[in-house]
Amino acid sequence: MAVLDLKGLLKIFGTDVRAVDEIDLHIEHGELISLLGPSGCGKTTTLRLVAGFIDPNAGEIVMDGEVVSNASSVIPPERRNMSMIFQSYAIWPHKTVSQNVGYGLKFRGITGAEADKRVKSLLSVVQMDHLGARYPSELSGGQQQRVALARALVVEPAVLLLDEPLSNLDANLREEMRFEIRRLHDEFNITSIYVTHDQAEAMVTSDRICVMNSGKIEQVGKPSDIYDIPATKFVAEFVGVTNSIPGKMSAPGLFEASDGAKFMMNSDGGKTGELVSIRPHRIQVHSENADVGGADSQNVLDGEVTRGYYFGSTVDYLVKVPGLEEPLRVIGDPHQFFGLGSKVRLTIEKAAVILVSDS
Ligand code: ADP
Ligand code: MG
Repeated sequence: MAVLDLKGLLKIFGTDVRAVDEIDLHIEHGELISLLGPSGCGKTTTLRLVAGFIDPNAGEIVMDGEVVSNASSVIPPERRNMSMIFQSYAIWPHKTVSQNVGYGLKFRGITGAEADKRVKSLLSVVQMDHLGARYPSELSGGQQQRVALARALVVEPAVLLLDEPLSNLDANLREEMRFEIRRLHDEFNITSIYVTHDQAEAMVTSDRICVMNSGKIEQVGKPSDIYDIPATKFVAEFVGVTNSIPGKMSAPGLFEASDGAKFMMNSDGGKTGELVSIRPHRIQVHSENADVGGADSQNVLDGEVTRGYYFGSTVDYLVKVPGLEEPLRVIGDPHQFFGLGSKVRLTIEKAAVILVSDS
């Protein structure tokens, strides 16, 4: 296990591509943190900096109190006790599964019976017990990814780095392997950085999620905090679907949309923001004039359905509400379906209205 600290880490490509733009990140012993963000936001570059494949322009990486990278010196990857897993698996086609898994051991002086024992044990962990003699071409994509996982884990690294390890798998397998990666993490507790652009993958696998955008960190937090209390518009919209409503705080606990609608919200804790974010499933749909109880404890808005799609387990609505420029996206209960043009009453708990900043 290991503690990692990224401090003011900066990587510039060419003259002006700030791929990693002065980020600070602390990663605890045994923690699995994911770097989540769109393509090109700097995830892979961050991982390569941590691995030691590239050197930073400024800032440093500290592992267990020792500086392993700064602008003037970089400890090479092979001396960092880290394993990295790539999207492309990178397993050797001319070696068997067992040979692939055991490959790294001889560089660490582990050979013979001890090496065999470790390889067998890891193959069992990734549920490949009986496939040790096969060649990669005789394996499915999921099995090849398991070989890559076993090969990374067999050397008992202090840090495990994973770069979109599931993106070459088909959808069903990808879903299954997310749980598998989390199970392996719970078993080995290796400090891990998991790079992905897939929010569901980050949610399932991670202790904490670090959302990146244009080389910078937007927010770091537990999956539930990232989803329920996004700090910025970018995070709210990248991690799940949301309604982003521009406006301003007009009084404590009261947000006024640019077009006039008002939203009561819980104390904002002194936060500042230019928008509120309301998740579609936090909005309840009722029939016109329904008695929904006190309007002082929740937001009550009347509107008209301008779109309603039935999805079996849910209905996806757009509801036009006076005082809001954009219709509200609402996820409703399919047992009470409101067709196009229906007048409806919406209720939104104060706690579902979250102030976010625009940047
Ligand atoms: P991600 O993994 O989030 O998709 P990357 O870290 O690969 O993003 O890339 C971040 C930015 O740095 C992108 O603009 C990319 O084009 C640029 N970049 C990455 N690697 C290089 C390189 N070797 N040379 C020049 N630009 C690069
Ligand atoms: Mg990448």
